[in-house]
Amino acid sequence: MRCYYCNCEMVKFRTDRKGTIAPSNGQTKDHLIPLHIRGKNAVVQQVLCCFNCNQDKGRLTLNEFRAVMMYSRVRNELSC
Ligand SMILES: [Zn+2]
Repeated sequence: MRCYYCNCEMVKFRTDRKGTIAPSNGQTKDHLIPLHIRGKNAVVQQVLCCFNCNQDKGRLTLNEFRAVMMYSRVRNELSC
């Protein structure tokens, strides 16, 4: 299963005696339209994405997050 946003290969979250292990590419669900804007928990607007993208997207809309991803990609290319 690949992340909807960054296309990385995702893994399932694991739980051991110390608690849940949250890898950066752990599989999560995200709302395409943030709940604070639409307020609906409809399955149709949910996508599977990695833990990192879910954290980074936060309360951003899809367009805002795409702009952030594009900016960080360009910045990474320039720093190499
Ligand atoms: Zn991702």
